[in-house]
Amino acid sequence: MQQPAPAVPPEPSRKKVLFAASEGAPFFKTGGLGDVAYALPKALAKHGVDIRVVLPYYSKLMPAEYQRQLQFLGSMTVKVGWQDKYCGILTMKLGDVQYYFIDNLQYFGRDGLYGYWDDAERFGFFDLAVLQMLQFVKFIPNVLHVNDWQTAFIPVLLHDKFSWIEPLRNIRTVLTIHNIEFQGQYDAVILDSVFAMGRQYFNAMGFNQNGGVNMLMGGINFADRVNTVSPSYAEEIKTPAFGHGLDGVLRWNAWKLSGILNGIDTELYDPETDPHLAAHYSAKDLAGKKKDKAALQKEVGLPQTNEPLFVMVSRLTRQKGADLLVDVVDRFQLEHNCQFIILGTGDYDLEEAFKRVAYRYPGAFSAQIRFDSHLAQTMYAGGDFFLMPSATEPSGLAQMMAMRYGTIPIVHATGGLRDSVQPFNEFTGQGTGFSFNDYRADVLEDMMKYAYDVYVNKSKSYAQLQQNAMAENFSWANASQAYIDLYTGLLTQK
Ligand code: ADP
Repeated sequence: MQQPAPAVPPEPSRKKVLFAASEGAPFFKTGGLGDVAYALPKALAKHGVDIRVVLPYYSKLMPAEYQRQLQFLGSMTVKVGWQDKYCGILTMKLGDVQYYFIDNLQYFGRDGLYGYWDDAERFGFFDLAVLQMLQFVKFIPNVLHVNDWQTAFIPVLLHDKFSWIEPLRNIRTVLTIHNIEFQGQYDAVILDSVFAMGRQYFNAMGFNQNGGVNMLMGGINFADRVNTVSPSYAEEIKTPAFGHGLDGVLRWNAWKLSGILNGIDTELYDPETDPHLAAHYSAKDLAGKKKDKAALQKEVGLPQTNEPLFVMVSRLTRQKGADLLVDVVDRFQLEHNCQFIILGTGDYDLEEAFKRVAYRYPGAFSAQIRFDSHLAQTMYAGGDFFLMPSATEPSGLAQMMAMRYGTIPIVHATGGLRDSVQPFNEFTGQGTGFSFNDYRADVLEDMMKYAYDVYVNKSKSYAQLQQNAMAENFSWANASQAYIDLYTGLLTQK
């Protein structure tokens, strides 16, 4: 007798995933997306996924050691509007991950990654090239995973421009939103001039926002699954306060929206081995951390005292809550014996405000207005408290790094901060940091006072907090399993 056909098609034995992004460490990175584009594929490869990554080839920005390893696979012509554009495809392997780079000097041979007048055309070209590349390199993925607005239009193009190509029909798409604030909003003229789609699509399609094209909105409507970088942020962006105009679209698509908290590279960020540190340490023996504190104080010119040391490593913007700290820091300095070190660059007025505070409290407050990865690491290790009062935070990595180094975070309970920092409960000894709900300067101040009190008067509680924080596991092993489950769900759905 014939067996009935299984209701669910068998899952392909080895999933093929193509990860498309506009940046990826260690080649090019400006923010969290770059970290994820490196660490997630690496972790997926460990799980046996056939994962490949495609990035633009920013020829001026790639470090020479990688440039030397590139192989030229060939070139094709990509139609951008009515123009034929050269598209070279380069490749290399890093660890277990195969990388493809899309080469066009005019678009990507520049001094920076973003912020050019023709970004819609540059990333439109990239999106078209990624889809055209699939048959060229003979890699037809089961899942095409796109990220942020720069690649969000790929699912739209897959449905509209490429759907007649038989082998591409079964590709499923996932869109990850790393920050809803950047959406790729352009004049509708790009439909003709970049995508050659014709305006007849426009009104019926899901990317028309007030008469313009919103590329992220297109991705949200067309991708098979949408996720963000923490469960709380996935909830928040469905509300007007956080959705930046896309909350309605996200509520409409809530059935396919989820959140997966980012991880950190726990091999790279490890107080037992970090080459930047003056002394190494672990949760079992924290003696080295004291030495790191002293070395840090010396490095920035603060007296080597045992007072609580509050540190902040951040872009100095309002999103990161730097303005909230400016509001409270004077009074706090006057009322407490403690030290501050702020490392970051960003809005001019905030940079200046921190410089002025440093001028007023020379032995207690240090403002390091620059980007310095070495100093950042010494601060994760040498600080007692890590300030991260972000107004909104999709995931946030800095607070996870701080906890890994036994530095206790003080955060606003939003997005990934809410999901990664468990509020301290001094009666049960549970918790990994200090977390406040109302986004107000006086509430931050109260939380800092409480943290100060725990450090100065309840050293057992502080030691317990450090143990709890260091015991947390923020490795990509967890997060990558959640992505595999997302892919599997997508591929096995009826
Ligand atoms: P975001 O991506 O929103 O800037 P994250 O917390 O996700 O915030 O990641 C910020 C990363 O950038 C962290 O690794 C942090 O250490 C690093 N960083 C931010 N500012 C500086 C700086 N001025 N110098 C060195 N590293 C910095």
